Amino acid sequence: MQYDYIIVGAGSAGCVLAARLTEDPKNSVLLLEAGPRDTSPWIHIPVGYGKLFTRTDVNWAYESEPEAALSGRRVFTPRGKVLGGSSSINGLVYIRGQREDFDGWGVRDWDFDALEPYFERAERTLRVSRLERHELCEAFIAAARSLGIPTSENFNGPSQEGTGYYHVTSYKGRRRSTAVAYLRVAEKRPNLRVEVAALASRIVFTDRTATGVQYRQGGRTIEARGKQIIVSGGTFNSPQLLQLSGVGPRALLERHGIPVVHDAPDVGERLQDHFYVRTFWRCSKPVTLNDEVMTLWRKARMAFQYALFREGPLTVSGGHAAAFVRTRPELTRPDAQIYLINFSALKRGGILHPHSGFTCGVSQLQVESRGSSHITSSDVTKPSSFLYNYPATETDRRMMVEGLKIARRICEAPAMREYVEAEFMPGPRVQSDADWLDYCREMGETVFHPTSTCSLGRVVDENLKVIGTSNLRVIDASVIPAVPSGNINAAVIAVAEKAADLLKAQ
Ligand SMILES: Cc1cc2nc3c(=O)[nH]c(=O)nc-3n(C[C@H](O)[C@H](O)[C@H](O)COP(=O)(O)OP(=O)(O)OC[C@H]3O[C@@H](n4cnc5c(N)ncnc54)[C@H](O)[C@@H]3O)c2cc1C
Repeated sequence: MQYDYIIVGAGSAGCVLAARLTEDPKNSVLLLEAGPRDTSPWIHIPVGYGKLFTRTDVNWAYESEPEAALSGRRVFTPRGKVLGGSSSINGLVYIRGQREDFDGWGVRDWDFDALEPYFERAERTLRVSRLERHELCEAFIAAARSLGIPTSENFNGPSQEGTGYYHVTSYKGRRRSTAVAYLRVAEKRPNLRVEVAALASRIVFTDRTATGVQYRQGGRTIEARGKQIIVSGGTFNSPQLLQLSGVGPRALLERHGIPVVHDAPDVGERLQDHFYVRTFWRCSKPVTLNDEVMTLWRKARMAFQYALFREGPLTVSGGHAAAFVRTRPELTRPDAQIYLINFSALKRGGILHPHSGFTCGVSQLQVESRGSSHITSSDVTKPSSFLYNYPATETDRRMMVEGLKIARRICEAPAMREYVEAEFMPGPRVQSDADWLDYCREMGETVFHPTSTCSLGRVVDENLKVIGTSNLRVIDASVIPAVPSGNINAAVIAVAEKAADLLKAQ
């Protein structure tokens, strides 16, 4: 059978595309997903994010190469491998980013004004909602205000700057992944076929025209034919599939014995991500998730509260309150995101500290450092090797140090006094800028927002077509030329919404 569209990857972008394209009954679509269906209950309960962190049945669980600026540590990198992709395992925080991010891409028809209607459309479909109030967050917000940071009712409004509660991709206490929000309805249509446990291993070309996809399923290799092929495998797997199929840097392909279809030096290059460093605080009141899980009685109460009312600690995930701040007064927009997380654990996805505790984390918003992602073999089951290469520039390092100093000042402000017993980590050993930088090297990690390995304008054109080929597109986080300011699921979904309109208009 020949499909109008074959989409590789049912993640944030892939589910949006499958749903929008099949709204037109004339389009037949095959959606291939390497992972399983999203049946695990932990996917749908927001706090379950921590449970899915290392679960390799629904997560690719990648690791970077040893990072020079992080004392040679590898950065653990979860990525969704399940219907909904990373939107099924992410922290649910919903942030559009700043107008200047999109305007700065410099790609025709991809500025903020062009994307705004698609953010709005996605927000209606995802039913984005705001998190419940919590006394620790109220204290954090008051503390941030006392430092001159304005209150924000909505980080997705005209200005991102300020302190307040996050919006999230959950509704009535249940996760709204793109599988839930988009795919469920679309799957009832006869013109959509979804194949799970289907790992695409190669795009099939006739000369430079993509004509199909080869995939592995149940021990068999199957070839599906399509008029248009869309790769939505995410920031690491999309360049991997292009490189495996002969679209990538010539020397890399030849090293692995892959016939070159198109020498595309930028495939896999220009990787960006938000660098992230956490500080941990002992809380003097038993109001954190750490406290909730300490006794059976409190666990049971939390479970009942969720089961009966869809409220309480189980509805919160990767962040609760935040502050978007400028680390230097001369800046015209926030460059740091400070997270208040109502629990603490040294290892993300690991056991919570056995004391009342919360986390205050800092990530950079506009990033200069860039890395790359390359295949290590011609076998699709061998993960690519990648390097984030952060923090590589003086601006990136200085921003992190200043951001962490602001986070500490917020947590030490009088409004937080009732809740702070002590700074647990790093504690008093970190005082000077050099100490903070050492702490970044020791603790720095990803906040899970890799982008840009198949950038718009370099690997794909403004119609998201892979330059130098025909009938082949990439549509996912990898096409975003520079990581937007904040959590990027919103931007990925808006890009996919706009791409779907472009495809339907052709
Ligand atoms: C742990 C975690 C927490 C995060 N927290 C947040 C947050 O709070 N807020 C936020 O905005 N963003 C967050 N993000 C980031 C955000 O979720 C991602 O940037 C976004 O989902 C990426 O979308 P995508 O479509 O590019 O890729 P994905 O959603 O990752 O989808 C790619 C899909 O393609 C499939 N696939 C890959 N290769 C193949 C192949 N060869 N064959 C078949 N299928 C394939 C994958 O299995 C996957 O399902 C988080 C991400 C993670 C992992």
